[in-house]
Amino acid sequence: MHQIGVKGVNVPALGFGTWALSGRQAYEATLQAFELGYRHIDTAQIYGNETEIGRAIADSSIPRGEIFLTTKIAPNNLRAATLRRSHEESLKRLGLEQVDLLLIHWPNPEAPLGESLEALARLREQGKTRFIGVSNFTVKLLEEAVERLGADLLCNQVEYHPFLAQRAVRAALQRYGMMLTAYAPVARGRVFTEKTLIAIGRKYGKSGGQVALRWLIEQKTVAAIPKAARREHAAANIDIFDFALSAEDRAEIDALAEDDRLVSWWGYAPDWDKG
Ligand code: NAP
Repeated sequence: MHQIGVKGVNVPALGFGTWALSGRQAYEATLQAFELGYRHIDTAQIYGNETEIGRAIADSSIPRGEIFLTTKIAPNNLRAATLRRSHEESLKRLGLEQVDLLLIHWPNPEAPLGESLEALARLREQGKTRFIGVSNFTVKLLEEAVERLGADLLCNQVEYHPFLAQRAVRAALQRYGMMLTAYAPVARGRVFTEKTLIAIGRKYGKSGGQVALRWLIEQKTVAAIPKAARREHAAANIDIFDFALSAEDRAEIDALAEDDRLVSWWGYAPDWDKG
């Protein structure tokens, strides 16, 4: 598995998303992902599946150190005391003493950012997470967190796929030496029917979705976390390490970029950067 080197840690470039997986399906899909070779798992307090993910980790018998596990603090848990308590509850549900990456899931203007970041940094000092980061942060919010408040963040997890260029956010993350974790990386299915991606894939015996995922993880410090409940989908998504895109392929995919955002959480969505 291709790894991303960022801030002294190696993160598997392809992870497994678990939003909308719950109960038995979350457990089985995560175990299945481990069998297929995934070692990077993305969950969150609001997904309601930390217990099942934790059980899958335990039952997989994969050494804990080989799994990179991310969870996220819900936006209504961002005041310091609640953040700390809610993370303790996450750890209990996961059956773990430490996660690898702990994120602010969505910014919440009602919770002072400095207070949340300090609480996260304290959890890192206490060994309850190895790294901290954010999700759904705009350039303005990243500047505030990194430059004004001096937070040492590993990543910003944002929507990113061939139809949403994220130019401004990518430039800011490069400036700060941070990773971009791409959510909705197969654009919830749209990449499988896009003509340019299909035509490129035909040259390599790959689908449009595999081309889109390969395009993401070939970018330095970009990880992708497609979700797949179905075994054949999860297997196809990880079968992207035996081919490489040419410069012409990459230019054609870059040219698809629109500003087509699929995910926004109306009470919490920030004023998104355009493009
Ligand atoms: P996604 O991964 O782009 O799309 C998932 C959908 O695509 C599912 O319906 C899945 O079907 C289908 N699919 C996956 N692989 C396929 C394949 N090879 N062939 C055909 N269909 C395929 O969207 P997402 O779940 O929104 O995003 C991925 C992960 O990112 C989430 O699960 C979550 O962990 C994270 N996320 C984070 C945020 C945030 O605010 N930080 C927001 C959204 C998502 P099946 O499930 O039926 O296999």
